[in-house]
Amino acid sequence: MPQSQHGVSLACIYQARQRIAGQVLRTPLVHSPALSRRFDAEILLKLETLQPSGAFKLRGATNMIAALIERHGREALEAGVVTASTGNHGRAVAFAASRLGVPATICLSCLVPANKVAAIEALGAEVERVGESQDEAFIEVERLVRERGMTLIPPFDDPLIAAGQGTLGLELMEDAPDLDRVVVGLSGGGLLGGIGMAVKAIRPETRITGVSLSRGAAMWQSLQAGRPVAVEEVGSLADSLGGGIGLDNRCTFGLVREVMDDHFQVSETSIAQAMVDILEHEKLLVEGAAAVGLAALAEHGLEVRGQRVALVLSGNGVALETLDKARQLANR
Ligand SMILES: *Cc1c(COP(=O)(O)O)cnc(C)c1O
Repeated sequence: MPQSQHGVSLACIYQARQRIAGQVLRTPLVHSPALSRRFDAEILLKLETLQPSGAFKLRGATNMIAALIERHGREALEAGVVTASTGNHGRAVAFAASRLGVPATICLSCLVPANKVAAIEALGAEVERVGESQDEAFIEVERLVRERGMTLIPPFDDPLIAAGQGTLGLELMEDAPDLDRVVVGLSGGGLLGGIGMAVKAIRPETRITGVSLSRGAAMWQSLQAGRPVAVEEVGSLADSLGGGIGLDNRCTFGLVREVMDDHFQVSETSIAQAMVDILEHEKLLVEGAAAVGLAALAEHGLEVRGQRVALVLSGNGVALETLDKARQLANR
């Protein structure tokens, strides 16, 4: 297979799998009787909610840090790795670095609540509190890279990150080799791009369906524009799907364009209903970003009858207040 501009191949994903083995959970793919009856299909759930950091992002972060150690030696990472994320990526970098014995610094704005700061510190990372916004925290990350020689671990736009997330696609193909469709939440595109690369290389007929927010979806608007564009960020129950794709995106925009077959947007109400449905019927606590696959099946009536469909339950990072909001919006 030719190595295209995005730099991610099936071989990179197999390498990633070897690197992360033992550090990241090989998660189960479970059959959902309730959802299978509801959609007259075989619905399978990929339980990334079981990852020790709470989300699939541990795959990419572990792969990148381990690959850097492999290529340049541990001494090259002496100053540590750095990123700015309050959410699943920050937790993943903190967790992966601590497991691999590398120092980690997570830059967080002063507006980030104390409980989130404590959670990241508990995973073994140094937290640097700086500025009044995520943007200011990023400026600090750039300074630490420049002045202290730290290494940036980006949340999605790197071939090593996307290849790490792609290991999830290998597991899907092993556990359900005749899968008809995978439904994946889409933000920066590391998850969908990695899974899509693995699945398409092994079984090109399997459809890769992306699901974005209905407002503030940077990848949606960028695909329409044919180039990365900036969007205004809007609050959502699926907060892990917010944020831009980077105007200088060099990997995931091209990758997503290459591997995705269809793409849907979902409303806040259907995300809320899907979160509550998964809690009530599957007894699984998922965050909004992990419920968008079910939200898309319900809201858009995708033609899945008789098919084998995997929904990626990507993470469990949900605050109780957010769950309350979802219940209110779902009216349950
Ligand atoms: C980051 C994230 C996503 C989206 O992944 P991208 O690689 O940014 O597209 C989906 N679900 C959860 C839980 C996440 O943390």
